Amino acid sequence: MAALVSPPSLLRRGRDVRDESERASRKPRKSGKSGKLGKGPRDWPGQLRESVRTVEDLSKALSLTPEELEGARRAELEGLPLAITPYYLSLCDPHDPRCPVRLQCVPRIEEGDTVPGDLADPLGEVAHEVAPHLVQRYPDRVLLLATDRCAVYCRFCTRSRMVGDGGGPVSLERLEPAFAYIAAHPEVRDVIVSGGDPLAMATERIDRLLTRIRQIPTVETIRLATRVPVTLPMRITSELVRTLRKHHPIWVMTHFNHPKELSRDSIAACERLADAGFPVMNQSVLLAGINDDADVLETLYRGLIRARVRPYYLLQADPVRGTGHLRTPLSKGIEIMERLQGRLTSIALPKLICDTPGGKGKVPLSPDWVVSKHDGTTVLRTFRGEEVAYVDPPARASV
Ligand SMILES: *Cc1c(COP(=O)(O)O)cnc(C)c1O
Ligand code: SF4
Repeated sequence: MAALVSPPSLLRRGRDVRDESERASRKPRKSGKSGKLGKGPRDWPGQLRESVRTVEDLSKALSLTPEELEGARRAELEGLPLAITPYYLSLCDPHDPRCPVRLQCVPRIEEGDTVPGDLADPLGEVAHEVAPHLVQRYPDRVLLLATDRCAVYCRFCTRSRMVGDGGGPVSLERLEPAFAYIAAHPEVRDVIVSGGDPLAMATERIDRLLTRIRQIPTVETIRLATRVPVTLPMRITSELVRTLRKHHPIWVMTHFNHPKELSRDSIAACERLADAGFPVMNQSVLLAGINDDADVLETLYRGLIRARVRPYYLLQADPVRGTGHLRTPLSKGIEIMERLQGRLTSIALPKLICDTPGGKGKVPLSPDWVVSKHDGTTVLRTFRGEEVAYVDPPARASV
């Protein structure tokens, strides 16, 4: 058990830490009996330094099944790399391979499978590139891919074709054509900074990037698409929040998928963001065996609104190659929305979205609440199953 709790190789790598407080904070690793893993360093660079990136370290931390072991071996060699912060690893059940956090971050042998409909680039982002690292699918907003790095690589990632491929953060120079494009298209008012995970970059780099975007006067809102509140909550430092605040209005789009991810640390990270005036929105991905259940999502969404995070989208998983084992049929999401409508306070109810393959844009999906339409009378079905007629006003005579 001791080896399970503090893998020797992790300690070795962490030995060169500079400051005492950091060293002290590593001591109280929870041990043994509960089977829980320690959360690792309190500081985010320490978390990244001690992240699990090899099969060897992973198998010391969790008792891996043959399917996971083979998946991890493959991830080490090719495809989407393996990276799990000690914090996120501590949320994993070390013994249960069906743990909803573990399924999100531990590779499985099925990642090598291809099923019908799979695509390497399901959203056609390469085809919709209007400048290097800039994707546009809608007239008023663009997606800027600022880095390929993430704190944890999610096994279902839509951008598995590019994340963690070694490029690292993109320099401002290389982003200049993207900025020029945005400046030349004043109809673009909303810039979504994504990647990879923009908040996995150094604060100073983020500051320079946001300063550059803010030099374009026609940009109104900036969104930061980030999973660090979930996978590396200690990244949301007061220094980061102070830096980001200078560039308001900034919206933070985060990505919680399961109530187990709502730890004291991640809730505190969301609250720090909300306290600093960032609207925080959540985009969950619907994942088989992880959160494809109305009760699980209800618990997640109630927890999110308590932390002042607004559930924004429930996304149908994109048909990314190697994720067939994590995807659900379209009908599953609709069934879940049907169960949640009316039972869950509407500020906690996201929109169900299918991002269409090929990058044709997002389509909202909904249960059908219209029973019939006839001569200006529409029969609607309520969440309780009552049928109610709504009668349109008479057509107005034109004056
Ligand atoms: C998802 C996405 C957006 C944002 O869509 P919203 O519905 O406004 O949240 C913008 N651009 C691209 C390329 C996207 O994939
Ligand atoms: S944090 Fe986002 S971009 Fe990074 S691996 Fe996860 S889903 Fe992909």
